[in-house]
Amino acid sequence: MKIRFWGVRGSLPTPPSSAHVKQKYMDLLRRAKDADISTPEKREQFIETLPVFRRRFIGGNTSCVQVNAKEKLLVFDMGSGLKRLGNYLLESAGDEKEREVHIFISHTHWDHIMGFPFFTPAYLPNTHIIFHSPFTDLEERLRAQQDFRFFPVDFDDMASTKEFHTLPAEGEYTMDGVTIRTIEQHHPGASYGYRIEADEKSFIYSTDSEYKDLSRENTQKFTNFFQDADVMTFDSQYTLLEAVHHKKDWGHSSAIIGIDLCAEANVNKMVLFHHEPENDDNTIQSLLEEARQYKSINYPDTPLTLAIGYEGLEIEL
Ligand SMILES: [Zn+2]
Ligand SMILES: [Zn+2]
Repeated sequence: MKIRFWGVRGSLPTPPSSAHVKQKYMDLLRRAKDADISTPEKREQFIETLPVFRRRFIGGNTSCVQVNAKEKLLVFDMGSGLKRLGNYLLESAGDEKEREVHIFISHTHWDHIMGFPFFTPAYLPNTHIIFHSPFTDLEERLRAQQDFRFFPVDFDDMASTKEFHTLPAEGEYTMDGVTIRTIEQHHPGASYGYRIEADEKSFIYSTDSEYKDLSRENTQKFTNFFQDADVMTFDSQYTLLEAVHHKKDWGHSSAIIGIDLCAEANVNKMVLFHHEPENDDNTIQSLLEEARQYKSINYPDTPLTLAIGYEGLEIEL
């Protein structure tokens, strides 16, 4: 199973500010002061030696994760990151190739569907798209997004073939050796998490999920769903204080809550996901460091590891 992140931002696509770009340049120049950067090759080598967040941006595109499992292409959510995934599919396979894309939708808030009208393969007749979700009216929702008042191209004018498959809100579905399980999460208008299993590996795509009542009785449904997962994304938009107080009922969570749930469920790797648009890379990095401290103090013997979800992150299981 191979996982690749194309969009990791929550709520709104967020290009880096000029001030933040300048800050990265300043940091880079300071680090380059004593390095040998006399040739293009040496400059390239220097860049590659830097920690990942010194040489790149976490990324401003909204939720989109690609999973390749058992020769199938699965896509989780159609945030603005979907556009680049579409470009990548055309570049890597060309526009002549027949392709089948299985798209799983957590919910239809803008940040999770806005990439679809810009998904170039959807305009090609050799693309077959199968949308999966527990929403029985998903087709109607996607058509509404492309109403001529909001977007110039009608849903029916996209030449791909499209199919809608309704999943149970909480159940299991198997597709050529890939098992997909669903869970309903607390979020305004509902959202769904997905657990993918293939070749004895498991990945959970969970985002836009609030955990209001942290009693074991209430979280058990989730920890059962997360149990022993190899990798999972976790809605880490807020700090703990925001999640439980200032932004209660806004439908999101924090990395600290994720650690409690993932440790309980024996998850191997938790990827912080759906980053707050107000947070620049430094703030997200400090949230990760705080989360790592919390983990090492409270669960020193638990093998759980934490990582920031960033555009371009690849995980092979
Ligand atoms: Zn969202
Ligand atoms: Zn949402």
